[in-house]
Amino acid sequence: MSFKIAIASGKGGTGKTTVSVNLYQYMKDNICDSIKLVDCDVEEPNCKLFFPNLSLSRTEAVNQIVPFIDDKKCIFCKKCVDYCEFNAISIITNAKYAKVNTDLCHSCGACLVACEFDAITEHPLSIGEINYFKPDKTEQIAEGRLKIGSAMQTLLIKELKKNTSDTTDLIIYDAPPGTSCPVVETVADADYVILVTEPTPFGLHDLKLTVELLAEIKKPFGVIVNKAGLGTDDVYKYLKQNSIELLGEIPFNKEYASLYAEGKLLDSENSIMEEYYQIIAKNLERKILVFEGDKYFKQK
Ligand code: SF4
Ligand code: SF4
Repeated sequence: MSFKIAIASGKGGTGKTTVSVNLYQYMKDNICDSIKLVDCDVEEPNCKLFFPNLSLSRTEAVNQIVPFIDDKKCIFCKKCVDYCEFNAISIITNAKYAKVNTDLCHSCGACLVACEFDAITEHPLSIGEINYFKPDKTEQIAEGRLKIGSAMQTLLIKELKKNTSDTTDLIIYDAPPGTSCPVVETVADADYVILVTEPTPFGLHDLKLTVELLAEIKKPFGVIVNKAGLGTDDVYKYLKQNSIELLGEIPFNKEYASLYAEGKLLDSENSIMEEYYQIIAKNLERKILVFEGDKYFKQK
């Protein structure tokens, strides 16, 4: 069983993915080589851009099972509409119109049970794919990639997590930005959540929303302040007032920003920034040992 860490942020642009890829690389190189990075930001997965030597080892299609109504068998009684809790079925009796809105359908199967006329059958609908990459000898990076036009982020993330769960000691999930259902799905079975924020009024506002969400679903978490040195100290005051652990800070650094813009990792070219990841990794290591009693996380 793995120890799972989800890296999330209340808003985009805080540096969540940068933290995910650099923390993964730091942990892999220095602390735990049984580690996996899973990019759950399925609408815009870009972790892989930071690893130029990555090779795609395989791709799996992910389908949603959706109902289809045969209007030759349908008598337009609307019983299926009453059974559907997600308002995914439209029936217009006079027009003899019957259709399932696959964007709203949750594949619960209730309409199939409802229909006594055998008018509904199930069919697979592609919602995206899971790509597995090999940075070196083992498959250690995976991403979900949502099909353009699909609204099934949550289902794809669920499949992605299920298909990447194995005996790896540590799994890092790069969560989508925000506080909506795809984020909840990503952090749902994480053992610990890292929130990445920035010391600005917008950063603080979105941090508060994410903290409320994690408190509601009872997830342990800590905070990394990215772009430290910019903005105000309101984020730090908030953390202190609410006894939230500050796992580490990553100062704003022009060289670091340009490395990010070029899709490069820090460790190859920026040893000063690597020190900050060392502090974060040490804080995490202590936390993981506390939570799991040394069971799932092995020092070299
Ligand atoms: S329950 Fe069956 S017959 Fe009735 S409207 Fe739905 S699909 Fe048509
Ligand atoms: S499978 Fe469930 S959610 Fe989808 S249309 Fe049928 S009842 Fe509605």
